[in-house]
Amino acid sequence: MPAVYEATLDYARSQDQVDTLFPFRERFLFPQHNDEDVRYFCGNSLGLQPKSVEYLMTRELRDWARYGVEGHFRAGYPWFSYHHFFTERLAKLVGAQKDEVVAMNALTVNLHLLMLSFYRPTPGRYKILMEAGAFPSDQYAIETQVRMYGYDPADAIVEIAPREGAHLIEHEDILKGIADSGETLALVMIGGVNYYTGQFFDLAGITAAAHAVGAYCGFDLAHAVGNVSLSLHDWDVDFACWCSYKYLNSGPGGVGGAFVHQRHGNDPAMFRLAGWWGNGEENRFKMQKGFHPQPGAAGWQMSNAPVFNMVAHNAALDIFDKAGMDALRRKSVHLTGYMEYLLRQVAHLDFEVITPTDPERRGCQLSLLFGANGRQVFDTLTENGVVADWREPNVIRIAPVPLYNTYEDCYRLYELMVSVEE
Ligand SMILES: *Cc1c(COP(=O)(O)O)cnc(C)c1O
Repeated sequence: MPAVYEATLDYARSQDQVDTLFPFRERFLFPQHNDEDVRYFCGNSLGLQPKSVEYLMTRELRDWARYGVEGHFRAGYPWFSYHHFFTERLAKLVGAQKDEVVAMNALTVNLHLLMLSFYRPTPGRYKILMEAGAFPSDQYAIETQVRMYGYDPADAIVEIAPREGAHLIEHEDILKGIADSGETLALVMIGGVNYYTGQFFDLAGITAAAHAVGAYCGFDLAHAVGNVSLSLHDWDVDFACWCSYKYLNSGPGGVGGAFVHQRHGNDPAMFRLAGWWGNGEENRFKMQKGFHPQPGAAGWQMSNAPVFNMVAHNAALDIFDKAGMDALRRKSVHLTGYMEYLLRQVAHLDFEVITPTDPERRGCQLSLLFGANGRQVFDTLTENGVVADWREPNVIRIAPVPLYNTYEDCYRLYELMVSVEE
């Protein structure tokens, strides 16, 4: 789309006026700055609270008070089958079949649990390929899994880094790393959208390359879910996990999610650590010996659903469902394109946008790497009611999210940057 943007407030407002998703911002609560809503660019870190959460939370508390244990079957959303309420909406968000997704636990926990199924190293095939500079939690998870089986991370973990002087990782370098590791490669595990640069990897291409050498392929979609369009089933991804408190607006520490491809999910022989909630539901309360997993990703559940931690998820996914991921993504490409255009007009400050310029290779986040003055720019934004995020040593991340950010938000951010002296 050859967008013709303009760096004026009038233009920004005219875009908001024709934006059919504009009314969705009314569904969220914004932190206040001088009695006004902040301009919130941190949806990549912690999404805003849907207004409906308070009512739904109160209703859940009421059901608990009213029914006690009977709430498992009599609550408005019966707790016994609580996770079922998410499958359809989650499946749509990540491009999966309904039985391939489940809301459970938290992200890093799910990463560990899924690696216990998909990383089963043997002396010949024990390596894991990942991107350099992955989110620390993923690095720790992978390192400790490798150690658990007695391997040396320096040997067993293959990291693909940006080339000398570059910030982004070349797709062909990932493919080459996979091919070079060949039969020694057990697993490819990559963050779908890199948290620092905002680079969106070619997940279909990576999956195919991993399968070509006989390795499994999994993704951490913390920064991808609710941000970019995903087709996990069609891409033939083996497994994936994500959190719900970033783009999905489901609250701090909100319940995580997991994807297991049907061909594994429906294989009861697939190893997993078992708990009663993953057992066939018809036998769940019979308290018998012998674990017989229910089909699909739900068979990886261990504990009963943390209901109060899933209430906000329920509210937030409703909003996503109403807005529709296709419409959100369309706006996102245009809105982030506008933000990028505005940033390019700021010539007097020493920074570069290190996020890919190709909209296909990024979500909504833009990462600004500063040579100087970064902290000063960040402080100016903060003092003026613009919430962005600072990553040491010198990066400002901003995420204009299509659900609640406006073109005017982007313009105001630009205006403040222009006001910072060289
Ligand atoms: C946010 C994030 C996490 C956080 O993990 P939790 O288990 O939810 O605390 C992990 N990995 C990535 C890539 C993230 O972006």
